[in-house]
Amino acid sequence: MSENYLSQSLLQVRPSATIGMSQKARQLMEEGRDIIMLSQGEPDFDTPEHIKQAAREALELGHTRYTNVDGTAELKAAICEKFQRDNGLAFGVDNINVSPGGKAVIFNALMATLDSGDEVIIPAPCWVSYPEMTRLCGGSPVIVPCGAESGYKLTAEALERAITPNTKWLILNSPSNPTGVCMTPEDLTAIGKVLLAHPNVLILSDDIYEHLIYSGHEFCTIAELVPELSDRVLTMNGFSKAYAMTGWRLGYAGGPEWLISAMRKVMGQSTSNPSSISQWAGIAALRGSHNFMDEWRTAFEIRRDFVLSALKNMGVSCAVPGGAFYIFGDCEKFLGGRIETDLEFTEVLLSEQGVALVPGSAFHAPGHFRLSFASDMETLKAAMTRLKLFLER
Ligand code: PMP
Ligand code: GLU
Repeated sequence: MSENYLSQSLLQVRPSATIGMSQKARQLMEEGRDIIMLSQGEPDFDTPEHIKQAAREALELGHTRYTNVDGTAELKAAICEKFQRDNGLAFGVDNINVSPGGKAVIFNALMATLDSGDEVIIPAPCWVSYPEMTRLCGGSPVIVPCGAESGYKLTAEALERAITPNTKWLILNSPSNPTGVCMTPEDLTAIGKVLLAHPNVLILSDDIYEHLIYSGHEFCTIAELVPELSDRVLTMNGFSKAYAMTGWRLGYAGGPEWLISAMRKVMGQSTSNPSSISQWAGIAALRGSHNFMDEWRTAFEIRRDFVLSALKNMGVSCAVPGGAFYIFGDCEKFLGGRIETDLEFTEVLLSEQGVALVPGSAFHAPGHFRLSFASDMETLKAAMTRLKLFLER
């Protein structure tokens, strides 16, 4: 037997480049190479102590068994409070899904709804997993390129052009992975107006970077801005980025009851519930103090400004991220000659200078690279020195 034995849907799927690049970097480290990994989208901070304490207590109290498939009643109640408090969204517990990670929330939603021929509109640059998950679930990704000229944002006109009778979903992600670009309330309201005229389109709002917003920017989400759409919006969020809980595998969403119940059915025949311990920790995260976030945001903003100015000095242009912890640099002018593509750019950079970035083509935006600045300043300084040496060659 060989690869031919794999399913047709899996054969069409590209492996995750963010994970792939980081794995490659880890392997080189194990071989003894001095590697700086700026490829993975993961805060470098530790999970706050009060959240870890809640997990210890959950263990002591014996919360070690299966829970409701899509989340405990207690965690769902805390999520309803969060949506009301932060986003003005009024959900009941029957509107809430909790899955093993934000990634799993998206997968469960697509799995529950996509048939062959269904289209999912994905503005690009986009997170690596949206198109591939769409394919894995049998649907067709419709990538809408949103370049520097539109500030890497989806416009109402581009959305209108992309919608067809087969459109099932539109995926929105602000602040964006990989650009960090934030949609304004005006941007989202204009998009909402287009969607009002297309009642068969579902909307997935991936709000996972909600709390990582820098000065001069504000977070907004479409279900709050255009409430007439709320019966077909799935507002997704998670614990990985905001609370530095990537390893705990916990994500959630609020949406219409029919969709939440369908996602529960998918989970009941696949993963079952997310870890019981993580769910108890999640309650402490949502209800506990959020003071640590200001400190994290300040640290991220200082790092962002440092990397932006270092890149500018090297002649690399990029969008100024209003949120998240990524910089999406344009490397087009460094291509040609010994390095022809963004993929080669990241490969040669890794092998010659030991710096791991992710090529823009993985985000459907060739000629770019993504750099995660979720590392300490010393590491970022060393990375910039190496990148400069690389670009000068
Ligand atoms: N959406 C976006 C845009 C992301 O960058 C990530 C991080 N991988 C996720 C969803 C999922 O994160 P997790 O599964 O760790 O909650
Ligand atoms: N979201 C992160 C990233 O884009 C984590 C890796 C992944 O799941 O893609 O790097």
